[in-house]
Amino acid sequence: MGKLDGKVAVVTGAASGIGEATARLFYAEGASVVLSDIQDERGAAIAAELGERAAYCRADVTQESDIAALVDFAVARFGALDVMYNNAGAQGVSAPIAETPAEGFDATVALLLRSVFLGMKHAAQVMLPRHTGNIISTASIAGLRTGNAPHIYSACKAAVIHLTRSVAMELGEQGIRVNCVCPGFIATGIFGSAFGLPPDAARALAPLMAPMQVQAQPLRHAGQPVDVAQAVLWLASDDARFVNGHALVVDGGLIAGRSWTEYQHMRESL
Ligand code: NAD
Repeated sequence: MGKLDGKVAVVTGAASGIGEATARLFYAEGASVVLSDIQDERGAAIAAELGERAAYCRADVTQESDIAALVDFAVARFGALDVMYNNAGAQGVSAPIAETPAEGFDATVALLLRSVFLGMKHAAQVMLPRHTGNIISTASIAGLRTGNAPHIYSACKAAVIHLTRSVAMELGEQGIRVNCVCPGFIATGIFGSAFGLPPDAARALAPLMAPMQVQAQPLRHAGQPVDVAQAVLWLASDDARFVNGHALVVDGGLIAGRSWTEYQHMRESL
C-alpha cells in the first residue's frame, strides 16, 4: 500500500533537485504524477523512466496560460487533480538593495510568488467542485529568517508562507488543505544556477556545496532533496489530514537557534 495510491499529483520544477525527488517519491508511493518544468529533455526522460503513471508537461510557471494548461493536462490524462506541488524556482535577482534593478525584482516575484499564486488558483478551480485536494508549495527558511538568501528571494518566500496561510483559511473550509515546506540548505543545482552555470553543471556542483552548508547547522550532514520530498509526501498524504496552513521547516535545525558549538565558543570568549 502506497501513501498516495490512486492520487494524481502535479509537480513543478520536477526535472531537478527537490521537485525531481518528490516526483519520484510520489510515484513510488502509488500516485500518478505529472512532472513539469522548462528543462523538457530531462523532465520527459524522468517521466519515461518512471513508467505508465508518469507524464511530462512543459510549463513555464511565470505564464498563467501554461499553468492552466498544466492543470488541464493532469485532469485529461489521469482524471483528476489531488495534489498540486508548486515548487519550481531559482535564486532570482541578487544585489545590494541600492543596485537591484526593478526588472530583476519583477522577474523574481513572477518566478517565486506569482507562480505559486497561479498554481493555487488553477488547482483550486478543479479541486473546489470535488471538495478535496492538497496544495503544497516550496517556501524556504529564507522566508522565516533573513541573512540566508538575497533580498527579493527572501521576501518572496515570506510571502509564499503568508499566502499559504491565507489561502488555507479559505480552502480549508472546502476540504482542501494548503501547506508549504521551508527547506534549509539542500544540495541541489540551485546554487550553481545562481552563479550562471547551465543546469547539468549546476547539478554536478551540488555535492561540492554540501560541506559548506553542513557547517551552518547542528545536524552535520548535508540536506538532500529526498529529505524535503519526505516532508512533502507527509503533507500530501492522509497522515497529515489535520494539518492545514502550516509551514514545515526541514533544515537540520539551522534556524532553531545558535549552534551548541558556537554557543560554547561564545562562552569561552567571555
Ligand atoms: P533546482 O535548480 O534543482 O530545481 C529547480 C527547478 O525549477 C529546475 O528544474 C528548473 O528548471 C525549474 N524552473 C526554473 N524556472 C522555471 C520556470 N520559470 N518554470 C518552470 N520551471 C522552472 O533547485 P531546487 O533547490 O530543487 O529548488 C526547488 C525549490 O526549492 C525552489 O523553489 C527553491 O527556491 C526552493 N528551495 C531550495 C533550497 C535549497 O537549498 N536547494 C532551499 C530552500 C528552498
